[in-house]
Amino acid sequence: MNRVALLGSTGSIGTQTLSVARRLRGQVEIAALAGGRNHELLSLQLAEFHPRLYHSLVPARVHSGAARLASLEQIATDAAVDTVVVATSGRAGLEPTLAALRHGKRVALASKEVLVMAGPLVKEASRCPGAELVPIDSEHSAIWQCLQGERNGVSRLLLTASGGPFREYSSERLEHITAEESLSHPVWSMGVKITIDSATLMNKGLEVLEAGWLFDVPLERIEVVVHPECIVHSMVEFVDGSVKAQLSVPDMALPIQYALTHPDRVPAPNELLEWNTSRTLNFVPPDTDRFPCLRLAREAGIAGGGYPAVLCGADEAAVTLFLQHRIRFTDIPILVERALNSYAGPDSVYLDVILAAYEWGRCRVLDASGTTVESRAAGDA
Ligand code: MG
Repeated sequence: MNRVALLGSTGSIGTQTLSVARRLRGQVEIAALAGGRNHELLSLQLAEFHPRLYHSLVPARVHSGAARLASLEQIATDAAVDTVVVATSGRAGLEPTLAALRHGKRVALASKEVLVMAGPLVKEASRCPGAELVPIDSEHSAIWQCLQGERNGVSRLLLTASGGPFREYSSERLEHITAEESLSHPVWSMGVKITIDSATLMNKGLEVLEAGWLFDVPLERIEVVVHPECIVHSMVEFVDGSVKAQLSVPDMALPIQYALTHPDRVPAPNELLEWNTSRTLNFVPPDTDRFPCLRLAREAGIAGGGYPAVLCGADEAAVTLFLQHRIRFTDIPILVERALNSYAGPDSVYLDVILAAYEWGRCRVLDASGTTVESRAAGDA
């Protein structure tokens, strides 16, 4: 029995993880649930799964039954938890991830910011006895699956990207995209922030940095390939020229299930790929002129220190401003780049430096946005 603590249970990955757990009753037991402010959904989840522990930002409004209130760290380190699924949004998963690894837990990681912001700290913690770090994101799960049984000889990781709903748009047309348009056509079912990040390709940039840490591959050997069909979830190229790919229907249920059951495989959580009709798979290089976030993420990763955290904080704020209709779609990379260019924090990687860099990036964008909105109004007039 795999006893699972699920952090971020009311979000997109959280609810999909519970669907997987529902199917895997007998193999997976939900030992703890942590939701943010969605007390109604969390109450329903607690009533269905009866975990021992729960966490909420609004505990007074939660119908907790017999579950006991606990902090994220208490949940992540509880003796009766084997696997901690970290599916929180933003930077909330960082400290619980470190705590869980230091207590020898398996961490199944869905939250990108954790590794992007604090890669060296998370890697160090993952070397603690018993600790294991496994990916949930579809691309990283694909690479992880391709690497099973391989000992060496990786030459490149090839991360596939849907390219987002606007991959064919001209730079001019990109300026006029609305928040509503951005949220209307995702291939994957995901949260709001990650849907915008997918449209700007920031999401793919964060995934490049995450892959570097997860698989110990230098960033210059990680490439992005736009693959609009979202059937190939990523590939690994070896020194002999062989390329392995993992294919499946685009549904997070499979990578979530594999993170919970590996090295075992259990029956498919969703429909299978259909092979008796013709199918075309396309692969094209990404355009970093129209989608500069991909370049910005890579640059922040190479700079290291607090820069990846500044990137995360700045992007978080810029996406919020875009959703509030206060900046244009094309302002997102401009504001993020400005924040990165003006950062001059220490290049050490202590937790407090990282957290401060994240806040600095966020505030820098919020402060600068007033100027951007004004200069745009002047330009439009
Ligand atoms: Mg992904």
